[in-house]
Amino acid sequence: MSNEVIPYLDSLDIDPYGAGAKHISNFQITNIHGNQITASLPLGGFGISRYAFDTLLYEALKETVTVIFDTVQDITFEKDRFTVTTQEGIKMASEYVLGTFGKRANLDKHLSREFIKEKSPWLAVKNHYEYEMDDAMVALHNFNGGYCGLSKTEGNLVNACYLTTFKSFKKYGDIDTFQQEEISKNPFMRKFFKDALPIFKKPLTISQISFDRKNAVENHIFMIGDSAGLIHPLCGNGMAMAIRGAQLFSELYLKHKKNGSINRKVLEKNYSELWEKEFGMRLKTGRFIQKALMNPISSRLGFSMANAFPAIVPILIKKTHGTKHG
Ligand SMILES: Cc1cc2nc3c(=O)[nH]c(=O)nc-3n(C[C@H](O)[C@H](O)[C@H](O)COP(=O)(O)OP(=O)(O)OC[C@H]3O[C@@H](n4cnc5c(N)ncnc54)[C@H](O)[C@@H]3O)c2cc1C
Repeated sequence: MSNEVIPYLDSLDIDPYGAGAKHISNFQITNIHGNQITASLPLGGFGISRYAFDTLLYEALKETVTVIFDTVQDITFEKDRFTVTTQEGIKMASEYVLGTFGKRANLDKHLSREFIKEKSPWLAVKNHYEYEMDDAMVALHNFNGGYCGLSKTEGNLVNACYLTTFKSFKKYGDIDTFQQEEISKNPFMRKFFKDALPIFKKPLTISQISFDRKNAVENHIFMIGDSAGLIHPLCGNGMAMAIRGAQLFSELYLKHKKNGSINRKVLEKNYSELWEKEFGMRLKTGRFIQKALMNPISSRLGFSMANAFPAIVPILIKKTHGTKHG
């Protein structure tokens, strides 16, 4: 996770390093021919499992808010008020609703969002492994049709998560064969799959990951995080964008509230504009880099250029990341 969120997490008394997160300061990118480029990360980041991070968030807020563990099934908006209904049949009325339900959820269908009507070619696979790796390194290993990120977590395990197209995957039919025969063409990944010991019995998988444009406000719901827009994972910045999005909305909401009664239309317009200003360019750069990496010719050219002019790499990383906000 990018360090750009550390000052904001500090202000909420949330300390990932206190929970054992690893400091990440170096970046390695490799291609299937075994060429590599290394660079320092301009802002750096930290490695922590979702389980540990989500626990930290929950511990920080459980005294001040009521958390209901349930699935939202229905959201309706009538006469300027929302009714939110859960699977367990709980009904809640509210003036405002934030949509923080991630990249693809039942609610996207329920709200008939445009992107959900299109098929998406992307799928992702994740597991944790016992493997010797530098704590300070985040690595991005490319293979035909995708890339795999490796980084350490608080438990000293390596998180390995790869994104690929369904077209590349279906030639092999199952995860093991795909890993051995396609991803392992990259010598770094060959060594990884040879030596690393998987911890989860079965890897976690998701499919139909869409990087299409989404609206930051839909049916009057303020979307935050992946439900507002998903950056290509090779940028390693989705978590920071989700957290920064929450900060942007809460600060804007409080500013409107301080000025008197809130005009919903103005708040919605301001949030959409703010979201675009903060994240629009990052998403575009992410799409550009991922297209360039997936194309064998531009990927080769990119590697040669970055070897000749190493300063390009931190510049590109900066373009997909924000700055630290307190
Ligand atoms: C392959 C891959 C690798 C990635 N690697 C990185 C990385 O290294 N660093 C990084 O910063 N980002 C990375 N990302 C991106 C990152 O995972 C996301 O950007 C981030 O999780 C967004 O947070 P979120 O809160 O918006 O969504 P999520 O983390 O997906 O959280 C949404 C939550 O809402 C819940 N939910 C869904 N529907 C409902 C409902 N109806 N009712 C109640 N709850 C519901 C879900 O169960 C989930 O817990 C990666 C993404 C992919 C696909």
